[in-house]
Amino acid sequence: MLSIVSPSAVRAVTTSSFQKIPSSPSSFLWRTFHASSSAHRKHFAIGGTPRRVRFNLAPEQQQQQQRSSLAGGGSHHYGQRKYPTYLYVGGGVVAIGGIGMYFHYQNFAPMTHRRRWIASSPEFEKEIGDENYQQLLQQYAGNILPKHHPATMAIEKIGGRIFQAAGEFAREYNLDYFDTKNVTFTVVDTDQANAFVLPGNHVFFLSGMFKYAQTEDEIGGILGHEMAHNLARHQGEKISTNAVVGILARLTLFLDPTGGYLLLFLPATQLLASLPNSRNQETEADNIGMYLAAKACYDPEALGRVFKRMDEAGSDGSDKNLALKPPEFLSTHPSDDTRIKNMQKWLPRDNKIFHQDEGERCRSLRRQIEVGNKIFQAATNISGPDGLPQRHGWM
Ligand SMILES: [Zn+2]
Repeated sequence: MLSIVSPSAVRAVTTSSFQKIPSSPSSFLWRTFHASSSAHRKHFAIGGTPRRVRFNLAPEQQQQQQRSSLAGGGSHHYGQRKYPTYLYVGGGVVAIGGIGMYFHYQNFAPMTHRRRWIASSPEFEKEIGDENYQQLLQQYAGNILPKHHPATMAIEKIGGRIFQAAGEFAREYNLDYFDTKNVTFTVVDTDQANAFVLPGNHVFFLSGMFKYAQTEDEIGGILGHEMAHNLARHQGEKISTNAVVGILARLTLFLDPTGGYLLLFLPATQLLASLPNSRNQETEADNIGMYLAAKACYDPEALGRVFKRMDEAGSDGSDKNLALKPPEFLSTHPSDDTRIKNMQKWLPRDNKIFHQDEGERCRSLRRQIEVGNKIFQAATNISGPDGLPQRHGWM
């Protein structure tokens, strides 16, 4: 797919595109005002004495000027701003082009058929994902568990089964962009409970998550959710939205260099575009993720149990990280209640896959998973005073 977004454009959006915006709008306004009043003094006060200046104005213009000064002078700058005709024509062309582009780049998410907009290419998303992956490896250096560590081996085993199910999903929905061969699993030793995925199939699992995900089935639910983000190219949606928001933000500054429009524009896009998009994507990742887990012979009900535990620990304050700042995995913009209710709705579909052929399809794998569940529980069941494992036995 043709890409309209260049890597530098997106990096600019995510890092420096707003640096030219004054850090404090009020200080910017103050500087503007200060500069104009200095100029005013230069023109109208020579040798410290204000000098009266006469202009040749028509009588109605003089009346207008008087009304304006009585009304408080400076404010007319905002009320009577007139833009040149070429701006209106240019704005029209941009608007028509924008509508055309919207329809050209809109498509539908797999399985849920949600209408969405992606202008980036899968190759470009992978490029960004690979770059972030290298940065994170450096950031977490020293805390990354080695390949032969039991926790890494468990995540790779479960992740491998989920990845295989994701490959089947990609073939089922003709998702040519999904790389069915390459995947990485990185386990980071930290108290933080989180998991996330980058384009290019780079999955990160933060070991604090073992507090809440205590069986292979539950880990399968989490990794299914993460893999679903990539199957549905959610990062591509975010990159595309950010690029458009960056362009429009610059346009508002062009129309109103004081940054007034921008102050309205940024919260409005958050409220009307970014947050609802994020909620939809999380719901979609739960939906596809449960389906993947069931396909990989993991209990589709397990993900709901993880949410319940995390929700309880966040609301009763026993995990301060969760109470203060929900991680990406728990970015519950749909509330946990809604999330669990949604899962109940999808459960009959996923149970059918889980118990396919009267359980025959998963029978031998289930035996292995049951053994894995016991090993997991033994490793994670070191209860602290709150009833949750303080530190899992692998560490
Ligand atoms: Zn997510």
